[in-house]
Amino acid sequence: MLPVVALVGRPNVGKSTLFNFLTRTRDALVADMPGLTRDRNYGYGKVGSIPYVVVDTGGLVVDARGVEQQMVKQALRAVEEADRVLFLVDSRAGVTPDDHYIAQTLRKLNKKVFLLANKAEGVDSATAGADFYGLGLGEPQAISAQHGDGVRSLMDEVFEGI
Ligand code: GDP
Ligand code: MG
Repeated sequence: MLPVVALVGRPNVGKSTLFNFLTRTRDALVADMPGLTRDRNYGYGKVGSIPYVVVDTGGLVVDARGVEQQMVKQALRAVEEADRVLFLVDSRAGVTPDDHYIAQTLRKLNKKVFLLANKAEGVDSATAGADFYGLGLGEPQAISAQHGDGVRSLMDEVFEGI
């Protein structure tokens, strides 16, 4: 069984962009319209010689309504089946109520979670992450899914000991 990495976070934080970077495809829909990926999307990535499965999700939101309910259900399922969880937040937008809700949800689960302050290209990583300590998931790591900044060292860490 390959290790499974789930990408979670509220819509529009860059999950699908990271999925595309990790799998080197354009398979995941990337758009400014939040919530475009409504179910789970699977791909393969590789770190050094370790292949893994990466799962993109539509996102988690508080008080999901209508089609969002299905999106949230799928995202939670992806988290359940994952060995590692990458929780993305938007370093440019700062902390939102959805981020708090997701953090609270993830903290209850016995999963290894990595908190990623995305869209941090051109910003020093301490500044990019500063807002997110309060989520209670440890030190945020600054990345740019779009440019790949910080992603390689992140994935090395994610798979340490696997
Ligand atoms: P998702 O809803 O979480 O899957 O987010 P997407 O991957 O669809 O990205 C949402 C928007 O953020 C798109 O316009 C992306 O181009 C943009 N985006 C994603 N990652 C980055 C990044 O690292 N830097 C910047 N500047 N924009 C990004
Ligand atoms: Mg997406």
